[in-house]
Amino acid sequence: MPETRKAIIIGAGPAGLAAALRLHQQTNIKCTVYELRSSPTTLGGAIGIQPNGLRLLHRLDVLDAAVSRGYGGRNLTMHSLQGHVVGSMDHVGWARGKTGFGYLRIKRRDLQEVLLEEVEKVGIPVRFGKKLVKIDDRVDEVSVVFEDGDTDSADLLLGCDGIHSFVRRTHIDPTQMAEYSGLSGIMSIVPAETVSSEVMDQISGLEATLTEEGMMALNPCTASKDELFWFFTKEVPLPESGDSRDGWEVHGKEEVQGFKDMLLDVLKNAQGDWGNMLKKIVSSTSVVKFYPIYRLPLGKAWSKGRCVLVGDAAHAMSPHAGQGVSMALEDVFLLSRLLKDETRPLCDVFEKYDAIRRPRVNEIFKMATENGEMRKKSTSWGLWFKEMKVSVGLNISWLLGLDLKGARQGHLVYDIDKVEL
Ligand SMILES: Cc1cc2nc3c(=O)[nH]c(=O)nc-3n(C[C@H](O)[C@H](O)[C@H](O)COP(=O)(O)OP(=O)(O)OC[C@H]3O[C@@H](n4cnc5c(N)ncnc54)[C@H](O)[C@@H]3O)c2cc1C
Repeated sequence: MPETRKAIIIGAGPAGLAAALRLHQQTNIKCTVYELRSSPTTLGGAIGIQPNGLRLLHRLDVLDAAVSRGYGGRNLTMHSLQGHVVGSMDHVGWARGKTGFGYLRIKRRDLQEVLLEEVEKVGIPVRFGKKLVKIDDRVDEVSVVFEDGDTDSADLLLGCDGIHSFVRRTHIDPTQMAEYSGLSGIMSIVPAETVSSEVMDQISGLEATLTEEGMMALNPCTASKDELFWFFTKEVPLPESGDSRDGWEVHGKEEVQGFKDMLLDVLKNAQGDWGNMLKKIVSSTSVVKFYPIYRLPLGKAWSKGRCVLVGDAAHAMSPHAGQGVSMALEDVFLLSRLLKDETRPLCDVFEKYDAIRRPRVNEIFKMATENGEMRKKSTSWGLWFKEMKVSVGLNISWLLGLDLKGARQGHLVYDIDKVEL
């Protein structure tokens, strides 16, 4: 009878919960998840998950529950401030054909709940209000101490504790610090009834509008299309106030009004029904989330001793490739496959994990950084040029059928379970 192994998972975000589920499905490793927050809440917002990530949610048996909550629209449509459509395409159409999985925009909280429900269903313990403060990584075991004095020990530890990872900063590589990308996001979720039903009928997915200051996009984020997620990405110097590392939610009337005034100024030249709708959405917003976007420099260590980093803790990137959650899921699936073989020494598992994940992560990181350029400040000529580029790109792609041939979608059909170990 093989000996049961034990893992401590730090962080109950997408990486931590998915890791607990996959290890439960595939290995004899018993996990306990420890989460800093006192309850399963996350700050607002909604995330887009692409085919490579949806396929893995399906294998975790949580996709149906996620789809029943999120919105699966097909198109990416680019609008101009003058109110016309610059171009439109089914941005995951080819990948959907190849994989059977499309695109899902889901509220962070809903994704978290779906994963958590499954974790609870299979009986994996999740301890909330547990802030990790000490790691002792020894030859025979790793032990941890939490702020409230609780302790635990295990055969291995997964640092799934996000971009400002304690596991990374204090144990794996204290020199590896997150850097500000120069861009910040402002976002909120509003009831769909904020906009007229005629406008709502035109919204079939991710609707983006370029402005001189950055990009404003909106996307329904519930299955019934009754809530609209909007976000605006803008180049700003690193803010001096607030919790600049993790972003913060703004409820105060005056502060919210400050963000709204700034956005309404950016949108002052927006015209037509589309422009008016954007202004109406901003005006009706009552809570704003402000999020400075950080990323981790590439090429640093991901493991040490019995500890390994997973998801954003290892390779947080700017969100403009829409791949953060999918990257975390791919990490989890590979690690779990490697850990299935209990005769394989941990150092060998971590080395292989690094060798397989590194090129893939570097490729997606580069893509995310390039996509971020589109969100940077420009002059009115610069904006015209960007719109032309998008228009030519989308229309040529459509004319030549490049989207049907999978141009810029190759990374979405990648299947981590098919990678040779
Ligand atoms: C503005 C923005 C938009 C984004 N949009 C998308 C998108 O559309 N699609 C997409 O795929 N990705 C998107 N991402 C990226 C995505 O959110 C992340 O890649 C994903 O959340 C990573 O999951 P994770 O579990 O690794 O980390 P996290 O989600 O950060 O979870 C880490 C968890 O660890 C906990 N923790 C931290 N420290 C400790 C400690 N000391 N002890 C115990 N627990 C601790 C935290 O409380 C948290 O719950 C976006 C990111 C940003 C900033």
